[in-house]
Amino acid sequence: MIYLDNAATTAMFESSIDVYKEYACNKFYNPSASYEIGLKVLHEIENAKNILLEKLGAKKGNIIFTSGATESNNLAILGSKRNGKWEYVFSLGEHPSVYNVAKELEKQGFIVHYVGLSANGEVNYEELQKVLNEKTRLISVMHASNETGAINDLKKIDMIRKKYAPNALIHADGVQAFCKLEYNLDDLGVDFYTISAHKFHGPKGVGALYVKNINSLKSIFFGGGQENGFRSGTENVAGIMSTIDAMGKIDVKEKFIEVQKLYNTMIDILSKDCNVSFIKTNNPYVISVGFEGVNGETLMRALQNYGVIVGIGSACSTKKSGNRILESIGLNKEEVKSHIRISFDSSNSIEEIKEAGEIILKVYREIWEKVR
Ligand code: PMP
Repeated sequence: MIYLDNAATTAMFESSIDVYKEYACNKFYNPSASYEIGLKVLHEIENAKNILLEKLGAKKGNIIFTSGATESNNLAILGSKRNGKWEYVFSLGEHPSVYNVAKELEKQGFIVHYVGLSANGEVNYEELQKVLNEKTRLISVMHASNETGAINDLKKIDMIRKKYAPNALIHADGVQAFCKLEYNLDDLGVDFYTISAHKFHGPKGVGALYVKNINSLKSIFFGGGQENGFRSGTENVAGIMSTIDAMGKIDVKEKFIEVQKLYNTMIDILSKDCNVSFIKTNNPYVISVGFEGVNGETLMRALQNYGVIVGIGSACSTKKSGNRILESIGLNKEEVKSHIRISFDSSNSIEEIKEAGEIILKVYREIWEKVR
């Protein structure tokens, strides 16, 4: 099998499974216990937060471990909500775990602005600027898109915020950027940043929220007060520790270079057919690619039979979200339907990519012959 749906999820590293097992079976103690072996585990979680802050490139700030990016996104948006006539701003490219929270805010009576995307998949910065004002409470724009790979310029958004929405906080869903792109969070100026472990060979069901200033957040559910009251419930110690292991195994710079080779190889092969079109971005991890005259879902299913696994947009959403995002970029309904998502990891080899690329073209032409 050639797995090219790495934006959906990745396999855990063997070493991370070993770490998971160690904390699930041997160091399984409750971090809230006041005896020494429990306190030791609590100390290891605190240490894990510092390691994560360092990997993020954040000198200061807070980490809250969660059950994944969906929870982190909900916590950032709902936990920073304040009573009053505040306004909220979201890009139209957001994952459902952000977009559907925006819809919920609308239901609660807040003014919510949705900002469109440019042809390259990035948020439209001019449009963003126009909806901001001193009543803006939160701007939520993802770092890299899970659908198209487009990388939003968070530094630029911070500059726009400073000028037009001085009271606003910035949240960025960093799920498709963390451990993939090189950056220092401190340079980007965000207040909240979401990550998810299963996108970088950690376990599913583990995520984190970076919070620059803890006073900007309130808890959204209540219980035993773990994670300084922001995430009650016994900590997922094995999940957290194996996430730290996975993250430590990744050299982001090296991985980027490897993946870029894979991306270039795939683009070269698919470009041989002039009916194949791409959304051009600076992100080698994801290709959103359209096959004229063919349904992307049909192609994806046919490719399975050849052992090539690709995506048709966000795995954890319905196809509807793919439509919203691609339509916002300016694709028509037919073009949207013709798109598949190919996403890479440094565990893929060039040989695999060459083989998969040729299979994709062959299967596309076969389907095209049948439907024309
Ligand atoms: N945000 C983005 C950009 C994603 O790609 C995903 C996973 N598809 C999520 C959020 C949700 O992540 P999780 O599975 O950890 O809830």
